[in-house]
Amino acid sequence: MTTQPTIAVLGTGIMGAPIARNLQKAGFGVRAWNRSPDKAKALEADGITVASTPAEAASGADFVMTVLIDGKAVEQTMVDGGGLGAMSPDAIWLQCSTVGIEAIAHLADLARHAHTAFVDAPVIGTKKPAEDGTLTVLAAGDRALEAKCQPVFNAMSAKTVWLDTVGAASKLKLVVNSWVLAVSAAIAEAVALAEGLGLDPQLFLDTIKGTATDNPFLQMKGGATIKRDFTASFPADGAFKDSKLIRAAALAAGINEDVMTAVQHKLERTVHQGHGEQDMAAMYHATTPQ
Ligand code: NAP
Repeated sequence: MTTQPTIAVLGTGIMGAPIARNLQKAGFGVRAWNRSPDKAKALEADGITVASTPAEAASGADFVMTVLIDGKAVEQTMVDGGGLGAMSPDAIWLQCSTVGIEAIAHLADLARHAHTAFVDAPVIGTKKPAEDGTLTVLAAGDRALEAKCQPVFNAMSAKTVWLDTVGAASKLKLVVNSWVLAVSAAIAEAVALAEGLGLDPQLFLDTIKGTATDNPFLQMKGGATIKRDFTASFPADGAFKDSKLIRAAALAAGINEDVMTAVQHKLERTVHQGHGEQDMAAMYHATTPQ
């Protein structure tokens, strides 16, 4: 009998916890670590081993997966927390957090200096796809790692897009999120406009349902906004962080990013009004009179 590989999941927030559960269900040995220990402790009931430090989780694991808020948190966990130093020589670091272009290059450098294999592997999909194991993984790195990594990605996703150069996956993730954030801001404004004009906002969703301008994301986020259900799936805090990464990338590429500038301002107001932990659909609050 061959033993299944062990995966250390560092960061068990909205995305990391369900990913860890799905890896465990697929038969991998899973160890979890989280800065606030309670969130990791909740996974013990699923048979997941909880580690008290990143180094303890990473030691002897075949894969170390970082699912943390941003590049700084990843560096603190992997360097100050000893995750990188504790990795076995043939272990692979799967970097699944959304960190942007500068930070992914820096993290890849850290891995290179430590002679550790590194895959730039941000994910697309929010809480529900993470729970259902239907995320999309954007994976960039040495193609020789693909066969080893694919079973891990299969356990958490419905699709993997492999790209050859570390950094390309993080770039693609920013492109995808530029679309998702822009459309989320547009949904907040369209619902608020309908209400402001004295219309039932459900009329807007029903009118375009099934037409070329409809999409499932609109029906889901628009419906939740009408019900004022801002339960976090993709929190406004994280979306604000991503809007800054997208703008930085656009500026560096010489792209005129008027729309993302407006989205960033709306997200900033949403966060400052105290809705940072709510879903980014709470941009509705930054759209209506306070
Ligand atoms: P989350 O629920 O807010 O979790 C963030 C995680 O980062 C928590 O484990 C948190 O620890 C940890 N963290 C924050 N600062 C830290 C630090 N300085 N040192 C160590 N740990 C730190 O966020 P999430 O939604 O799971 O997102 C995780 C990553 O996936 C982010 O990069 C996000 O952009 C990306 N992502 C999210 C979604 C989504 O829809 N939610 C979709 C795709 C990709 P504590 O629990 O102690 O705060």
